Amino acid sequence: MKTDIKSMTLEEIQGELKAMGQSAFRGGQVYTWLHRGATSFQEMTNLSKDLRQALEERYEITAPKVMRKQESQKDGTIKYLWQLADGNCVETVLMRYHYGNTVCISSEVGCPMGCAFCASTIGGLVRRLKPSEMLDQVLFTQLDSGQPISHIVLMGIGEPLDNFDTVMRFLELVNSPQGMNISMRHISLSTCGLVPKIRMLAEKKLQLTLSVSLHAPSDEIRNTIMPINKAYNVETLLEACREYYAMTGRRISFEYAMIRDVNDTESCARLLLKRLKGLPAHINLIPLNEVAESPLHPSTRQAVQKFQKILEEGGVTATVRRTLGSDIDASCGQLRRNYEKTRKQE
Ligand code: SAH
Repeated sequence: MKTDIKSMTLEEIQGELKAMGQSAFRGGQVYTWLHRGATSFQEMTNLSKDLRQALEERYEITAPKVMRKQESQKDGTIKYLWQLADGNCVETVLMRYHYGNTVCISSEVGCPMGCAFCASTIGGLVRRLKPSEMLDQVLFTQLDSGQPISHIVLMGIGEPLDNFDTVMRFLELVNSPQGMNISMRHISLSTCGLVPKIRMLAEKKLQLTLSVSLHAPSDEIRNTIMPINKAYNVETLLEACREYYAMTGRRISFEYAMIRDVNDTESCARLLLKRLKGLPAHINLIPLNEVAESPLHPSTRQAVQKFQKILEEGGVTATVRRTLGSDIDASCGQLRRNYEKTRKQE
């Protein structure tokens, strides 16, 4: 088994090269090649042939294959379905915002969390991704699309905090000045609410934006749509959010998928205001994306607007997220899901 070299930090690669009798400088060259998307050591023409050969014998370089690529005719959103070395697939979405190109990346193949409205979790967790496989989604989306990427959201398939160490390493790689050099302030990490991991993340004091998928203001409702609520209920979660803010000084962003007749009533909006009191927060209202396998439906426009108004009047900023790529299966996990379905039929 060869070692996955792209999951290594610059210092680790320098250490490996030193152990092979090379200088740290050579390690830096290898690192730069990898983070520019080199897919073989033979491309690394500023290294000697012997060194390239020696590296090839020891290490592998991951490179996903494009299995499906869908481009929205409406807004330029591009969705990729990548096949990984072991045949598993994950999705990445490239979105064009006025502030820069943003990629939404996956952290796991499938997801163990079981949220009732989400397509990613239908087949459960297959496996967690490696740091290189997370980095590759950013790198190869940029290379394939020709669009420079400035922002990342960890909101694709999987629960990032369920793959904590890998995600921390990915952040170090993608943030490194010798690599893609993407600023932590341009990165958002979304979680369904794994409280102990939120505490671990707070300890790291990163400048990224934490997004919490709240989706309901009461245990009564949240228990019915998010199984994680039975382990860490709304109060426990919001307590961890308060601690997170106290430790990092970073305002938390809450995601709230608007589900018709489930969590979109006026009393839900008022209870939400009450529960968020004193916590600097921003709420993203997301009209639910319809998932074929689920009986849940999006709220009406009027219900969303009313909900937003109540929050704003209560002093909490709430934005309604624009739906991008609605013509191309662009919501969580749907492209992989549809691909797996057709693959089974073939
Ligand atoms: N596991 C993480 C990140 C992945 S999902 C989390 O739970 O936060 C990114 C966001 O999309 C989450 O807020 C998730 O709840 C939401 N989401 C999933 N399915 C959705 C759907 N069908 N419609 C709208 N939002 C959805």
